[in-house]
Amino acid sequence: MPPAPLTLILNADVHAPEPLGLCSLLLGGGRVLWLGEGRPQLDARLMVAQVDLQGRPLVPGLIDGHAHLTGGGGESGFASKVPAPMLTAYTLAGVTSVIGVLGTDDCTRSSAELLARTRALVEEGLSAWCLTGGYHVPPVTVTGSVRGDIVHVDRIIGLGELALSDHRSSQPTLDELLRLASDVHVAGLMTGKGGALHLHLGDGERGLALVREALALSELPARCFHPTHVNRREALFVEALAHAAAGGVIDLTAVEGDDDDEAGITAAAGFIRYQDAGLPLERLTISSDCGGCLPRFDAEGRVVHMEVGRSASLLACLRDLLGQGVALTDALAPFTSNVARHWRLPGKGRIAVGQDADLLAFGTGMGVSDLWAGGQRLVEDGCAVVKGRFET
Ligand SMILES: [Zn+2]
Repeated sequence: MPPAPLTLILNADVHAPEPLGLCSLLLGGGRVLWLGEGRPQLDARLMVAQVDLQGRPLVPGLIDGHAHLTGGGGESGFASKVPAPMLTAYTLAGVTSVIGVLGTDDCTRSSAELLARTRALVEEGLSAWCLTGGYHVPPVTVTGSVRGDIVHVDRIIGLGELALSDHRSSQPTLDELLRLASDVHVAGLMTGKGGALHLHLGDGERGLALVREALALSELPARCFHPTHVNRREALFVEALAHAAAGGVIDLTAVEGDDDDEAGITAAAGFIRYQDAGLPLERLTISSDCGGCLPRFDAEGRVVHMEVGRSASLLACLRDLLGQGVALTDALAPFTSNVARHWRLPGKGRIAVGQDADLLAFGTGMGVSDLWAGGQRLVEDGCAVVKGRFET
């Protein structure tokens, strides 16, 4: 990536996510250098790219906190392994930051491969981190230990997605869960990284029982346990609300075209129920499962149907929320500031002077019009002007 040019964005209706009104922004060196009404005094000799948004909304670039950067799947034979999503799978969905995970297949896929794909996306202009491990115990790692991975490897910020209450899990015991959570917690303290255990929750009736036991028995804070897919089943969702009430952060999975016809709850419906329950909004995140397979199993555990997650489901969920009367500021938080706060991502999730210039401008119908990542314009008028190396 060449250095990002100085860019002046005019007439942006800024939601940071809180509403700041009509503003102009000066971007340089990958950050927001100036933000305010009118336009800043600039030396005429400076080369400045200028973009007039004509009053359209400008929000922080979305953070997809659960994406299978290497591709996931592989639950229905080797041919069902999902290929790695390319750069524009994220940028055309309004995403400027991703957190990568391994899932069921942490055997033919490795933490090293995930780390390499994370670095590749950084080279291509995105911000990217990943978690060590995968569904299983003992977790696959790069350095030989979970704590070592988080402490020594810049891009690794936590552990997951470790599977609980799922026929694909390692059936981890309470002691195993406690040991892993404590490793992740201590590594987070040592490094200032998110240091959380991102837990894949399956359809099993045990739900979050093991997490409750772990919290009751240990001194670990609730934030260490970050359960995802908690909207897949009504009873699990109710347990997740209790986890958030106890100080935990919970993650909903947004699925495109999800119309509530299964036992699950759409991410938008889950958001509204969470809000109606009066719980602190900052403890809610929403991710897409991009690149992961979204299978349905029969009673014998065979895949009978499979779709692939896409980051585009985040904006679909956002539009759904707006359509149901949720304010843009509130609707944005689980995709932006909340994810950045939970995973302690410096410079991310908010628009302010000194923050990274990761910005999403909406067009008609709240579609992606323009996207800047680290001050680089990757999407212009709805078209990807920067593509991944192997994209045509
Ligand atoms: Zn999962």
